[in-house]
Amino acid sequence: MSNVLVLIEFSPRGEIAASARGLLAAAATLGSPVAVVVSATPLADDDVARLGELGAAGIYSAVTAAAGTVLLAPAVDALSGAVDAYEPAAVLAANSVDGREAAARLAVRVGGSVLADVVHVHNGNGTVVAQHSVFGGAYTVESVVEGGLPILTIRQGAIEGQAPTVQAELKTVSLGSNAEGVVLIDGFHDDPAGSARPELRSAATVVSGGRGLGSSANFVLVEQLADTLGAAVGASRAAVDAGYVAQTAQVGQTGVSVSPQLYIALGISGAIQHRAGMQTSKTIVAINKDEDAPIFDVADFGIVGDIFTVVPQLIEAVKARSN
Ligand SMILES: Cc1cc2nc3c(=O)[nH]c(=O)nc-3n(C[C@H](O)[C@H](O)[C@H](O)COP(=O)(O)OP(=O)(O)OC[C@H]3O[C@@H](n4cnc5c(N)ncnc54)[C@H](O)[C@@H]3O)c2cc1C
Repeated sequence: MSNVLVLIEFSPRGEIAASARGLLAAAATLGSPVAVVVSATPLADDDVARLGELGAAGIYSAVTAAAGTVLLAPAVDALSGAVDAYEPAAVLAANSVDGREAAARLAVRVGGSVLADVVHVHNGNGTVVAQHSVFGGAYTVESVVEGGLPILTIRQGAIEGQAPTVQAELKTVSLGSNAEGVVLIDGFHDDPAGSARPELRSAATVVSGGRGLGSSANFVLVEQLADTLGAAVGASRAAVDAGYVAQTAQVGQTGVSVSPQLYIALGISGAIQHRAGMQTSKTIVAINKDEDAPIFDVADFGIVGDIFTVVPQLIEAVKARSN
């Protein structure tokens, strides 16, 4: 079976990023998943066990002092070392800022081609076939790489399920650090917009608010429902432009693309540019007082009503149920 490399990202707290599960699940449909990890110290036993649990048959652990001090170059060095070692049929990375850049740089280095923002993959008679959701989710298109290594960035949350658990075979290599032509990391600081809530791109549940909230004070209602459900907070561009919430929360064509298990849209009309960023969500719930709002065209469940009446009741009902 062909090897398929998966670039594993870590959260700022040092945990394996949530994107790893979907990436390894996608890799398992194409071949034998090999996790590529970059770290400053040898990989902890817990992380090895967790990656095996998520389906990594192999782990290429690249240890380098440059991890955490040099931006992205160590990941690209590790991936290209793993490409030499495993001769993979494909390389997968998250469609995150880091994942996209690592994919692009790797393609230049090894002569591959990038298929970006993939929502599904399958093996078509030995060829890696990627699916993309385009034009606001109105069309699904397939793409393949002709010649060269396919390097795919996968939309977080788009791939469901988990690869079967295996005993991961660990290969540890030490990477030299190339001090030329790299960007050094000066230091880390907390994202002021960050919070204890899950990260928007990879959250299992997203609650988004739109212009229907009416003010930044009212936007608290979105946050209250999100916190009741343990969800990330999203927003429409109109809500962002009106200053109800930071731009980092914007979902859509010019914001973040999300594919959570559950997406709840509050006071959002459902313009095509918003739908472009959330239409691949597994279950969509919309609450809007206009029964003709286009968001209802993509919603699995819709409530025609005033959010200021419905949402407090919803919060009470969820709390009562979780008690
Ligand atoms: C190039 C381009 C890129 C864009 N990119 C994005 C993008 O990335 N993301 C994005 O979201 N938009 C984007 N837009 C903007 C997009 O076209 C819409 O203008 C925007 O999505 C509308 O946001 P909204 O649904 O919150 O506001 P509106 O369209 O004003 O809708 C508000 C909704 O709230 C409902 N409502 C009002 N009060 C209540 C209440 N009390 N209870 C229940 N419902 C209520 C109304 O019925 C209405 O449906 C882009 C536009 C362009 C041209």
